Amino acid sequence: NNGTAAASPSAFIVNSPNVSYTDAEIKSKYTYRTTSVETDSNGNFVATPKETQYDFKVDRKVPKVGMMLVGWGGNNGTTVTAGILANRRNLVWDTKEGPREANYYGSVVMASTMKLGSDAKTNKDINIPFHNVLPMVHPNDLVIGGWDISKMNLAQAMDRAQVLEPTLKSLVKKEMAEMVPLPSIYYPDFIAANQEDRADNVVEGTKACDAHVEKLRQDIRDFKVKNGLDKVIVMWTANTERYADVIPNVNDTADNLLKSIEQGHEEVSPSTVFAVACILENTPFINGSPQNTFVPGAIELAEKHNAFIGGDDFKSGQTKMKSALVDFLINAGIKLTSIASYNHLGNNDGKNLSSQRQFRSKEISKSNVVDDMVEANSVLYNKGEHPDHCVVIKYMPAVADNKRALDEYYAEIFLGGHQTISLFNICEDSLLASPLIIDLVVIAEMMTRIQWKDSSSEGGYKNFHSVLSVLSYMLKAPLTPPGTPVVNALAKQRAALTNIFRACVGLEPESDMTLEHKLF
Ligand code: NAD
Repeated sequence: NNGTAAASPSAFIVNSPNVSYTDAEIKSKYTYRTTSVETDSNGNFVATPKETQYDFKVDRKVPKVGMMLVGWGGNNGTTVTAGILANRRNLVWDTKEGPREANYYGSVVMASTMKLGSDAKTNKDINIPFHNVLPMVHPNDLVIGGWDISKMNLAQAMDRAQVLEPTLKSLVKKEMAEMVPLPSIYYPDFIAANQEDRADNVVEGTKACDAHVEKLRQDIRDFKVKNGLDKVIVMWTANTERYADVIPNVNDTADNLLKSIEQGHEEVSPSTVFAVACILENTPFINGSPQNTFVPGAIELAEKHNAFIGGDDFKSGQTKMKSALVDFLINAGIKLTSIASYNHLGNNDGKNLSSQRQFRSKEISKSNVVDDMVEANSVLYNKGEHPDHCVVIKYMPAVADNKRALDEYYAEIFLGGHQTISLFNICEDSLLASPLIIDLVVIAEMMTRIQWKDSSSEGGYKNFHSVLSVLSYMLKAPLTPPGTPVVNALAKQRAALTNIFRACVGLEPESDMTLEHKLF
């Protein structure tokens, strides 16, 4: 073990015969323990503990990474950019409440911790920043670029967004004014008609074509070369599109999707064209909006090319609360019977969502978020039974980015009683979404440097599956590998993320049993 001689600084080493360090790699042998259940002839479950041995390998060299945002000139795009500049330069600015300094609050990677273990002498918990568990990229080092159909430079676009304090804006203005989004592809039918007046930075052509795919691939390559990057991650934080119809022979398989793009089929959305360009360029692509960018043909294409994809829709406010609260209620044995979710917001996202087809995409992604928790509790719910769930979104220009979310949770408690929980959540939407963008980029990049193999087989190391479901914590409607279950419960999503990263350095999952404090 020469863990201290790491290529990048690491706050701890693991002292175990199953873990070895070189300058280039961390290798671990890991026993994955699960429980396999069968039903016997009497209809009883038989649960058998099962062990699988895996080898994990982590590339320790932190690469130089570019983050390219689609919709760079939007509220999220400008806010995350200003936020990274502010952190990079350790900025402090004055507000009516006194000076404020740059931070990464709201980022799991940068502002949360995980328990490493217990102190050998005192048995007290030792917690480390999440960022230190594996050699992750620091967001301050991300080179930022991207596309927008609006040609405003980022300083003007930041003013348009009305999110940040004027004092902070004045400190990053000069740098942001030099940032201008690349022209993008614009197929008007996919976003609201009310967006047309900002589309002054568009590539010729209003439907999918090979030239568009080629242009986007070239943009990625140029960005890499210009900035001397090892890797780029692309993130869709552009407008919510309408759903694309999934049509046999059009977008149902990888080959059909490529053929449809070549032939200019009208049902291929800009976000799918971006996804295809990234997949072919072997660049991870993450969709932060609710539409079905990843039609079956796009997923199959990613699998074929071993390229990473993730989605859909940032889970920032209302849904994050929902996936925590419903997890709690149902696991507490309380029968949730209805959720009424109402929002109003006044930013450009709200304007776009005031159009029915785009709202429908959001409604779908906001609606399925409690399904797994309900299905898992057959004591409270009969098969097929589900709480009522209604989602309303209204455009209210005056409140700008200060989105309001009002939620009523109605539940049945002991002996026919009722519990009503009302939530009123107000915050700048883009200040919640920006740290998620950072987490998604940092974690997706990290996943490109983790490989595994089944210790019992002869085969070599492989990547994780193309569909990065490990990103689920940050996403409202998590995309999972075809045929695998979707997990929405927030605590489970976080546990999956932390425990997979722990396994990569040969640490057991955090079980929270703390027997050391109970058995003596
Ligand atoms: P925004 O409207 O301010 O920004 C979107 C940007 O995308 C605009 O600048 C627009 O010009 C640009 N755009 C539209 N079509 C494009 C294309 N084809 N190519 C390149 N650029 C294009 O919206 P926002 O508040 O930044 O949100 C962005 C997306 O993130 C929305 O879809 C929203 O639903 C989603 N989202 C946001 C949050 C949040 O908390 N802010 C949460 C979940 C999802």
